[in-house]
Amino acid sequence: MGPEISDASVRVLEATGVAFEWDVQQAGENVMAEYGTPLPDHVLESIRRTKIALKGPITTPVGTGFRSVNVAIRQELELYACVRPVRAYPGARNLRDDLDFVVIRENSEDIYIGIEFEKGSPECQQVLEEVSSLAHKRIRPDSGLSIKPISVFGSERIVQYAFDYARQYGRQKVTLVHKANIMKHTDGLYLAVGREVARRNPDIQFEDRIVDNMCMQLVLRPSEYDVLVCPNLYGDIISDLGAGMIGGLGLAPGANIGTDGAVFEATHGSAPKYTGQNRVNPMALMLSGVLMLRHLQETEAADALERAIADVIREGKAVTYDMKVDRSDPTSVGTSQVADALVEKLRAGA
Ligand code: NAD
Repeated sequence: MGPEISDASVRVLEATGVAFEWDVQQAGENVMAEYGTPLPDHVLESIRRTKIALKGPITTPVGTGFRSVNVAIRQELELYACVRPVRAYPGARNLRDDLDFVVIRENSEDIYIGIEFEKGSPECQQVLEEVSSLAHKRIRPDSGLSIKPISVFGSERIVQYAFDYARQYGRQKVTLVHKANIMKHTDGLYLAVGREVARRNPDIQFEDRIVDNMCMQLVLRPSEYDVLVCPNLYGDIISDLGAGMIGGLGLAPGANIGTDGAVFEATHGSAPKYTGQNRVNPMALMLSGVLMLRHLQETEAADALERAIADVIREGKAVTYDMKVDRSDPTSVGTSQVADALVEKLRAGA
């Protein structure tokens, strides 16, 4: 359903009055026959050129040997920071209405680097023996192994980004999330580097939390948190926890930021079972568009679009099935009708 929510989002972004010049590029399963790859070079080139992309979700073709197009875009463009705001809009199926924090996830290292050894393979055996002897600890021979690298460079870059983000968006505090009590040489390093970066950014408060405690705190006392900066895996989990707290994937926006470009996309995937049905919620991508407008310093347009979305959610009329208490509620509307309602609001407010 990528094209459906993308069309709806482009319509509302245009209705803000910002003069966009779109360079529309197709990627994913439907371009494979023509280009032999779901991510043709010209798509990456376009993003490198414009430095900004609003991206619909892309299905990862299964069984074709292609890795995730989404991960490939992040890696190719070195988009090292994933930003996921968790903001409750009254009227959505929120856990509570006072949620407003931002999860910043390191996107380039940690367990996601993809160095793994399959149980029983000769390579795994070799690494097991080597590691056992170096660490003086026995590892069961029927184990698989995944390697978790966390570097000084990667930690410094993401924590500094979190401070810069906090400063730019008027946020007061950065909380560094870790499990340094167990993983001293990865999470421990992340924490030590984070503390050093905090010393260089004294205008913003800083604290750290162990990841399990962090999850509990977010449910019990979320208003005490502002910007969370997490290594890749914890960021992945906590941002989904956040999405659940604000009524699900249909409302969870995201941004992938690098030194040389930024890609704005919803947290959710392409929900293939709903393709072509004008059914899914376009608001997560639209809210990603709001993040894009803020990144472009089109603050007035960003505020207007976010306000229009908040109004539509509060009124509860032009919303898709996933935002209803009863998902089979016959009063829910389709993807394009959400865009119609927002365009009308933006025009009325203009
Ligand atoms: P998904 O997010 O596409 O869908 C899971 C379920 O969540 C859907 O069946 C639907 O019930 C619900 N949902 C998701 N988005 C919704 C929306 N906007 N409105 C209403 N309901 C919504 O996850 P999946 O089924 O695991 O993945 C499907 C495909 O998407 C896979 O090929 C996967 O690789 C890809 N994917 C892409 C991205 C991306 O482009 N960044 C992210 C995640 C998954």
